[in-house]
Amino acid sequence: MSQPSPSTHVSTVWGKSTNLRVSHGSGAVVTTVDGEDYLDYSSGIGVVNTGHCHPKVVAAIQAQAEKFLHAQVNCYTHTLIDELADKLASITPASIEKFFFTNSGAEATEAAVKLAKFATRKPNIIVFEGSFHGRTHMAMAMTTSKSVYRAGYAPLPGGVFVSTFPYHFQTGETEAAAVERCLHDLELLLKRQTAPFETAAIVLEPELGEGGYIPCPKAFFEGVARIARENDILFVADEVQTGFGRTGKMFAVEHYDVQPDILVMAKGLASGFPISAIGARAEIMNRWVAGSHGGTYGGNPMGCAAALATIDVMLNDGVLANGAARGAQLSHGLSTLAETNPCIGDVRGFGAMIATEFVDPHGKPDGARTSAVVAHCLSEGKLILLTCGTYGNVVRWIPPLVTTENQVGVALEAFAAALAATA
Ligand code: PLP
Repeated sequence: MSQPSPSTHVSTVWGKSTNLRVSHGSGAVVTTVDGEDYLDYSSGIGVVNTGHCHPKVVAAIQAQAEKFLHAQVNCYTHTLIDELADKLASITPASIEKFFFTNSGAEATEAAVKLAKFATRKPNIIVFEGSFHGRTHMAMAMTTSKSVYRAGYAPLPGGVFVSTFPYHFQTGETEAAAVERCLHDLELLLKRQTAPFETAAIVLEPELGEGGYIPCPKAFFEGVARIARENDILFVADEVQTGFGRTGKMFAVEHYDVQPDILVMAKGLASGFPISAIGARAEIMNRWVAGSHGGTYGGNPMGCAAALATIDVMLNDGVLANGAARGAQLSHGLSTLAETNPCIGDVRGFGAMIATEFVDPHGKPDGARTSAVVAHCLSEGKLILLTCGTYGNVVRWIPPLVTTENQVGVALEAFAAALAATA
């Protein structure tokens, strides 16, 4: 069906994964302006973990809108910010005690880096190959998943050092060998390029997101945290995408025996209302001098209300548990399809954050096949899927955590049909 033509006044800088024009969404389904339903397994890039327009989140936003759209935190204090900080303290790891609020993932990354630098009085940051931390200048300098996020913006801020990540499917090593190599590389980086006394923080995604949905092996995540601790460097977990039930736990750090010094949160925090946060040990947060950071909208009461309702729904309406169950169902179904489709070289990921990595008959990344499969799913299966990875050869499975058993079955059938049609 034809759709209304788009305005020529909207910037074309956004990369588009579909040209759908949508009018509303509910649960795991979005409806176009022509009235067609699509299963949205993009979750708006991992945001609507509670589904589109969860009634309790909508009701909380509506109720709050009648009281205050904006109660600016420098000018006065509103109670929801206290409630949200207390709630986050109860669901994050024990080390995370105090919270600062901002508006997007990139802004939260910036805040984490600024806090780490300020608290340690050290200038440098270490990140990992393939990571994605956002599009503001510092976050962009920390991002190496694809050059398109950096090219054209030089000079990038300095003080960012990139260490290797154990992507063992790509390198062909065993997981153990890749972990040993990459931990060794990190120790070398501290000897050769950024001394511990100059290094404020090491920032790591528990599962690389944009870089290809690659879960950190346990020995790697825990090894990096140990190296950070031994060298008096802060360990920052970027849970912008992995947080709020995405990996089958409230936070992905729960898959490891690690207590981060700083935790970065956004996306799933408020079901689509733009609010993000960092949490930190109290003794670190207490070193941040009042006025040395802030922002007009951070801690906005609408965002706080949306976040409180989101967390309530996640915990008390079974969303967290359903997401874990549907993730397992999806993972099993995809692994079964991989057995008869050698183009799927790897199925991996925690919870409902699953990758299917496409390779050609020579084992090389196959971005063209991936695009064809995703396009077929969209046009024939009415299924919205995103890709990721440096070569665009990874389908990322990131359904709303409220998706039903039946919908997962429908998505798997659409994917199987796309595999057959593009063979
Ligand atoms: N960090 C991670 C791990 C992300 O996946 C993203 C976005 O995809 C960001 C940071 C940046 O978040 P935002 O796009 O809200 O700025």
